[in-house]
Amino acid sequence: MSNKVVSDNAVSIMSYSDETKRFLESAGASEGCMVTLETDGQTYSGKVMPHHEFSAPDIVILKMKSGYNVGIRVGPDSKITVTDRPVDHERKEMVTEEKKGLPTIVLIGTGGTIASYVDYRTGAVHPALSTSDMINAIPEIREVANIRAKVLFSIFSENMDVCNWQALADCVAEEINNGADAVIIPHGTDTMGYTAAALSFMLGDVPKPVVLVGAQRSSDRPSSDASTNLMACAKFCTQAKRAGVYVIMHDTGGDDSFAVHNGTRVRKMHTSRRDAFHSINATPVAHVDAAGKVEIITECRPVSDGKAVARTAMEKDVVLLQFFPGMDPEVFGPIITGAKGVVIAGSGLGHVNSNMIPAIADAVRNGTVVVMTSQCLNGRVNMNVYNTGRDLINAGVISVMDMLPETAYVKLKWALANTADAEEAKRVMQTPLAGEMSDRREF
Ligand code: GLU
Repeated sequence: MSNKVVSDNAVSIMSYSDETKRFLESAGASEGCMVTLETDGQTYSGKVMPHHEFSAPDIVILKMKSGYNVGIRVGPDSKITVTDRPVDHERKEMVTEEKKGLPTIVLIGTGGTIASYVDYRTGAVHPALSTSDMINAIPEIREVANIRAKVLFSIFSENMDVCNWQALADCVAEEINNGADAVIIPHGTDTMGYTAAALSFMLGDVPKPVVLVGAQRSSDRPSSDASTNLMACAKFCTQAKRAGVYVIMHDTGGDDSFAVHNGTRVRKMHTSRRDAFHSINATPVAHVDAAGKVEIITECRPVSDGKAVARTAMEKDVVLLQFFPGMDPEVFGPIITGAKGVVIAGSGLGHVNSNMIPAIADAVRNGTVVVMTSQCLNGRVNMNVYNTGRDLINAGVISVMDMLPETAYVKLKWALANTADAEEAKRVMQTPLAGEMSDRREF
């Protein structure tokens, strides 16, 4: 998908099977619509709810007047009529007067829980369409910076694709070159680490801070971390004067500490905790406390007045494979030999079953770049210790020290598209560009 806002309705019946979706769309029905449904000689009236994951594909879920949800099987003879529509949730971006002397932060909305609200009619979580809504919930943010807000996408981050990374990198560069002192990117948390890594490589020596931020609870819940995380971003952007791509999220279960992670080192390590994000094989770059005081832990590039350049080319044929006992060379061999780049999250120090090595050696002979990382995440790859590792080295597999598998995947796509040949791409993979790898161990 390109640089375009997804409408609320487009996502609202996405959970239904294609056929049931067609049935609902034939009457213009979407989530939250009041409908009358006739099937098998019975008539039901209720609000269309999101499809339940345990329901069969031909079941439509309606919330009845009693408040109970019922699943109704629909078929070729079923009829549906919309009797009432939900209020449109689209909100306009607000323009507020700029205060002299304050830095400018541009917020580029992409979606996710941080930009979502719960629709209490249906219980479904929707991506909101206005980044201003998020800002207006934190009036104090306007005390530290002039905020300009825009929405680039309104999607959950599992739906982010390479073209979204590219559009986002271009948009960030454009905003910085138009005078932004910092860019904050509200983003879904699921794949935020991938986007942070992609921006880190695409934007290279970006002269200003570019901070991705998410929330584990949507803004309208009392326990939401959306406002506090955003405020921590604003404090970091205005006080730290550090350039680069970062992720800022809660550092503890409370509301008293926020970690600033390097965009190439960060991973979501918990499905629901507010302090789900951790720096792996590195310490966070900085902490922000509840009062907004920034403590720098790792030195990084100072901000400058340079131009931002987005190098967004990405190789399409790159795969990220997790090794597992029972991995079938018949199934995975052709995937490896058919790709231009392969990142393997190997076991332990960087291993796969020996039966996979012939396919890997074939692929390397044909010009595929094969990169080893470790599914242990913590610690570095060392293929010199065991025979399997040495066989992998002899097959031409390269190691990228302590780089995260997903960062290696993103970097390999970028390296292959921005170099002349496989040898140069290998050199780029083994050269730290954005703090993504090191030989050092942190204790
Ligand atoms: N899965 C969604 C996403 O990553 C919602 C989770 C979240 O934003 O934290 O966008």
